[in-house]
Amino acid sequence: MSISQLARSIAESPTLALNEQARLLREKGEAVIHLGIGEPKNKAPINAILSSAAKLTAGDIKYTPTDGIPSLKRAIIRYTEENYDRVPEPEQILVAAGAKQAIFNVLFSLLNPQDEVILLAPYWVSYPEMIKMVYGVPVVVRPEDGSFFPRMKEIEQAVSSYTKAIIVNSPNNPSGVIYPDSLIAELVEFCEKKGIYMITDDIYHKLVFEGKSATPAYKFTKKDIESTRVISINGISKLYGMTGFRIGWSIANKAITGVMLNVQAQTTSCTSLLLQAAAEGAMTGIQSTVEALRLTLENNRRVMVNELTSFDGVKLIKPDATYYCLPDFSAYNKNSVELSKFLLKKALVVTVPGKEFGMEGHLRLSYATTVKDVTQGVERIKWALDPNSPNEIYIGDRKLVRDWL
Ligand code: PMP
Repeated sequence: MSISQLARSIAESPTLALNEQARLLREKGEAVIHLGIGEPKNKAPINAILSSAAKLTAGDIKYTPTDGIPSLKRAIIRYTEENYDRVPEPEQILVAAGAKQAIFNVLFSLLNPQDEVILLAPYWVSYPEMIKMVYGVPVVVRPEDGSFFPRMKEIEQAVSSYTKAIIVNSPNNPSGVIYPDSLIAELVEFCEKKGIYMITDDIYHKLVFEGKSATPAYKFTKKDIESTRVISINGISKLYGMTGFRIGWSIANKAITGVMLNVQAQTTSCTSLLLQAAAEGAMTGIQSTVEALRLTLENNRRVMVNELTSFDGVKLIKPDATYYCLPDFSAYNKNSVELSKFLLKKALVVTVPGKEFGMEGHLRLSYATTVKDVTQGVERIKWALDPNSPNEIYIGDRKLVRDWL
């Protein structure tokens, strides 16, 4: 076999691999609790289903324009106006197969080999691999104080003459924190001064708790979409719990969007009409799904935070948004890959090692599940790690006795 060096250097997606592992265990009848996954249990919004079903029933499903059907783009324009106070032109929008492809399009279109992209740890697992796929170099900035909030000084120190872009994901996967406005404002100013692209991955921007909000980067620039260095990424996966519909988009100036359009035209042509229609249905239909999802997450997150704060060795920075939190388990094991494997084996709980997000010693726990799974999941972790917890537990029908502490 002759596999390219580049392809060989790309790691598998740890989250998708964990999903597969959990699925296989469940198939064997094991009572697995999945705190690894980033998708909620809701059904797709009814308007999404109806809109997609109408196209399916008509049976006329052909290629669409590469950048997306005009009616979906109109929905995206309205969405952007409502949420970002900006009105993009259709030529500044590119609909892609998820935010994931949108980010890839941006990186592919901007980077020359060896160009650097700054990532702020903890960062989403796919960024470094996508940067490597286009021969770029990920440069990770890790907050010195062990928090999840990078400082401007630390970011400035990581910038070199090769720096092409910085990816900013706030609200943040995996930590659930929202960066303060002051940091976003400083970043926008810095990037515009230096000519660095600021790619803002905003896919959790409305899933915020207790009245908090994530201010969009656009607010801190007077420049229009044509001249700002801000490129915004969004999608329906997290907002409507429509992960399987694979629709996301980018908003960037017309020149960059035109290049990305060529890239997408030569790789995937376009996303499916059925899925675009579903996205349009979700975005133009009643918006109560978003609030219902947000409330569910807010409640689940409260339960998870309560469970974790009663856990002696665990340190937690409370999440203000998203589906996740990233507690520090280093008091139990500094090696998060080892710890995650141990928890799956002993307690049948899926977690994602913090190492994958650039934060060793931590585990990402998702509360985008049921309250029962959140409660029992953390209880099982406690049983497996904490000598002060009862040493017997029921997992499914089996009573297990802890004999390793
Ligand atoms: N960015 C972040 C931060 C994510 O967490 C995810 C999904 N886990 C994506 C992008 C990709 O989203 P999509 O399903 O729209 O491709």
